[in-house]
Amino acid sequence: MTAGPCPLCHPTAEAVLWQDALCRVIWVDDPDYPGFCRVILNAHVKEMTDLNGGERRRFMDVVFAVEQAVRDSLKPDKINLASLGNMVPHLHWHVIPRFADDRHFPDAIWAPARRDPGCRPGPDRGLPGRLADCLQRTLGAA
Ligand SMILES: [Zn+2]
Repeated sequence: MTAGPCPLCHPTAEAVLWQDALCRVIWVDDPDYPGFCRVILNAHVKEMTDLNGGERRRFMDVVFAVEQAVRDSLKPDKINLASLGNMVPHLHWHVIPRFADDRHFPDAIWAPARRDPGCRPGPDRGLPGRLADCLQRTLGAA
């Protein structure tokens, strides 16, 4: 666990694509994984079963909306959804588009890399804006 204040309760720099009172969707600026998004609960809560049913369903609806937006935009070979929270025990879901030739495939992105960077096309500067528009259409304006 990290010492000091929770980095998800006290973010320093986040590119927020969409948010409401419950949670926010941020763009994870990882050159190996363009389209990698994170859905972060606004409150400091450790486990999914600490949420009430309505909060849990809404939170997952947002995760699935991000998954659909990433699929529609990037046509990845696979989506990885991950909720670990071992380092930062504050609910957040990773939504990661995966390609058969990405750096770690078929391993998790946190595993040792299998191949050099640069196999994937370069960053698409318009992608964050397109994902944000899609989320607003799906989930409503925040
Ligand atoms: Zn927190």
